[in-house]
Amino acid sequence: MQMAQIGPGVAGGNNRQTLTDADADGRALFREWCEAAGCTVGVDGIGTMFARREGTEPDAAPVYVGSHLDTQPTGGRFDGVLGVLGGLELVRTLNNAGIRTRRPVVVTNWTNEEGTRFAPAMLGSGVFIGEHELEWAYDRTDANGRRFGDELGRIGWKGEEEVGGRPIHAYFELHIEQGPVLEAEGTDVGVVTHGQGLWWLEVRLTGRDAHTGSTPMQMRRDASLGMARVIESAHRIAMDHQPEAVGAVGHADLHPNSRNVVAGRAVFTIDFRTPDLGKLTSMRERLEAEAREIASGLGLEIEIEPTGHYDPVTFDTGCVGAVREAARRLGYSHRDIVSGAGHDACWINRIAPTAMIFCPCKDGISHNEAEEIMPDWAAKGTNVLLHAVLETAGIAS
Ligand SMILES: [Zn+2]
Repeated sequence: MQMAQIGPGVAGGNNRQTLTDADADGRALFREWCEAAGCTVGVDGIGTMFARREGTEPDAAPVYVGSHLDTQPTGGRFDGVLGVLGGLELVRTLNNAGIRTRRPVVVTNWTNEEGTRFAPAMLGSGVFIGEHELEWAYDRTDANGRRFGDELGRIGWKGEEEVGGRPIHAYFELHIEQGPVLEAEGTDVGVVTHGQGLWWLEVRLTGRDAHTGSTPMQMRRDASLGMARVIESAHRIAMDHQPEAVGAVGHADLHPNSRNVVAGRAVFTIDFRTPDLGKLTSMRERLEAEAREIASGLGLEIEIEPTGHYDPVTFDTGCVGAVREAARRLGYSHRDIVSGAGHDACWINRIAPTAMIFCPCKDGISHNEAEEIMPDWAAKGTNVLLHAVLETAGIAS
């Protein structure tokens, strides 16, 4: 709640967007807390923070935990923050209990997870694993034309450390579910086994603007009708790939968007997600074939452009097992679950064994100032994080 006072929103949540003054203040508070807990804090060239609690074997690759402190413009108090401060709580708990781990433990605050002010999302972790170049990241601009690299320097968090130069033994990320399943079932802990893969397909249908009153039905080239049929097709394709496949059109523009003009152009984006690569490919292929058939039947020109893509993520069996086993030992109800959203853990999984722990959130609401969790849920998720990390880092005898 102290962190939530920094960059408050307008409705009880947070607006602590990346590389703003509020982000700088939140980082400073986190560093202060970490140093008070005996950690040394490193900062890399993209501003990602690493708070290290030394192990008895300082040369061993550390176990990493963490998430992100940046928020959406109308974000909640827990998305990301839970995983970072849960990591800090883990360090404090080990301190209080006088426990030393063999491997060092590092609590991470990844820069720009949200991707709202500077696209793309998960930029700090994406550069860390080599998916993006650092200079390319610096050149991203916000809506006001400000450069990422300049803003990082302005707020004073461009670190000296080379990005990506850290060996990682394992990475655990605690995060709120951002969906309704755990709360609805009354389940304490989500054991995240997979991250969804995604295709965004922008479809552009072109027909002909025409008067809605005087153009006979059979002489129309109606892009809005084409759009409706393609949306219906996207829905059917997702339903045919159940379970664990979703599809929707959340963005659509009609042109000229006038009530007495048959729309000559429709531009909309299909969002398909599933943790199964075969299904993801099949959904895209079927959509493209059906959309082309729909367009040709209506006399429309069609272009389909992929505008976003992630392959599905399969988290590390060993790390996932450590999470499941920790939940079992603690006597918490738990279930395997797939992450519907992207997370830094999805990138880190490419270079190191990784798993995620989900905590329920009220009504599944997230990316919303009304986002809410119960203290008991947070405590259980953090306890699982603690025990999974202890098992992986090893307790010094
Ligand atoms: Zn998040």
